[in-house]
Amino acid sequence: KRLVVLGGGESGVGTAILAQKQGYDVFVSDYGKITDRYKEVLNSYAISWEDEQHTEALILNADVVMKSPGIPDKAPIVKKLLEKEVQVISEIEFAYPFTNATTIGITGSNGKTTTTLLTYHLLKQAGLNVGLAGNIGKSFAWQVAEENFDYYVLELSSFQLDGIVNYKPHIAVLTNISPDHLDRYNYNYDNYIDSKFRITMNQTEEDYFIFDADDQASQNWFSKNKIKANQLSFSITKTIKNGAFLNNNTMEFKINNEEFVLDAAEIALEGKHNYKNAMAAVSVADLLKVRKQTIRESMSNFQGAEHRLEKVLKIQGVQYINDSKATNVNAAFFALDSMTTPTIWIVGGVDKGNDYTELMELVHEKVKAIICLGIDNKKIIDTFGNVVDIMVEVDNMKDAVHTAKHLAEKGDTVLLAPACASFDLFQNYEDRGTQFKQAVKNL
Ligand code: ADP
Repeated sequence: KRLVVLGGGESGVGTAILAQKQGYDVFVSDYGKITDRYKEVLNSYAISWEDEQHTEALILNADVVMKSPGIPDKAPIVKKLLEKEVQVISEIEFAYPFTNATTIGITGSNGKTTTTLLTYHLLKQAGLNVGLAGNIGKSFAWQVAEENFDYYVLELSSFQLDGIVNYKPHIAVLTNISPDHLDRYNYNYDNYIDSKFRITMNQTEEDYFIFDADDQASQNWFSKNKIKANQLSFSITKTIKNGAFLNNNTMEFKINNEEFVLDAAEIALEGKHNYKNAMAAVSVADLLKVRKQTIRESMSNFQGAEHRLEKVLKIQGVQYINDSKATNVNAAFFALDSMTTPTIWIVGGVDKGNDYTELMELVHEKVKAIICLGIDNKKIIDTFGNVVDIMVEVDNMKDAVHTAKHLAEKGDTVLLAPACASFDLFQNYEDRGTQFKQAVKNL
């Protein structure tokens, strides 16, 4: 069988290696450049490849195509394949039949990485033979080719889910849904929501689906659709019969008729959104029979992920926090919500069609100064100009941090939570966060 892999990145190279091992005739084609490291890997496996072009004669004869998540459906080569009715699938769909491992799939607009890392941490601490994959680190397909894990915790983007046919996670988590990546969904929010729910479409009565009961989009979807999996949910606002909820400062769990509690203060992560992520991860661990004592210990020693409400330094009584991964309004909402002292907020970048009004109350209550860092400042200034006394525009991170230091008084917090994409001034959100941390350290 001939497998053509579109995209020679982490996902594509991993799939190519797995397919080669399984006896496929494999060809990798990337319209951009393949990095030298991946070229070496492909060569070492004698896998044929091309980059900076798509040679149709070598692609359209595929029996099956694995499309990397970054390539949109409207790419001309994909359109041609679909016209020819060649099956186009994602890496997860291709790879899962080659492992017997139990998979936990985690998707959502925000909180995927945090929940995935937390779940992995819990299972690993419990001594399970578990791998971590999906959008994080070494690709799933690559690990299936080379490792022998009993469990995988997979971070799944909607793009990965768009390319599944039969794949189902044994336990699925949908953290929440808010508008994002709409350019890939014909600017139709419902298409994006449906895409997220694909995570449960192949699940059966023996599987579990865990979701946020406070999430409006999920509620709406459930009012129109049914699923087969067992449902567990979590909430920070109301009581939950099957799942977890926050009762003052205690997380109460009711899972499969068994009850237990966790003190929210025991968990290392801060912020209400992280209570949600924690409830989701603990629910998974509980379903997999991890001991309560292990859960407790693991929750208190979990080191959060870089660039997500990451405490950088405290300088002259001012706490600097890097939440560069807050690339949309919803993430920025939870960042602001978790601030406990007067905040100097560094915000801005490339606007994604943001509606800032939902932040109004929080900004009014917590923010004493706004530093706009990006190309799309006008909307921010128009929205908050009357609410916050001090608004400053800067055009690089160093100036942003220096201005923040100048404005901050002992006891304040300086928060980078841009609510925007980073591509105007930075390579990506990691670069933005790293520059912030460096500028803070230079203070
Ligand atoms: P993802 O992988 O889905 O992008 P991350 O865990 O990397 O999610 O977090 C992305 C951003 O969203 C960070 O700024 C983080 O602080 C914020 N965040 C994390 N969990 C949630 C949640 N459950 N709801 C809203 N925002 C969240």
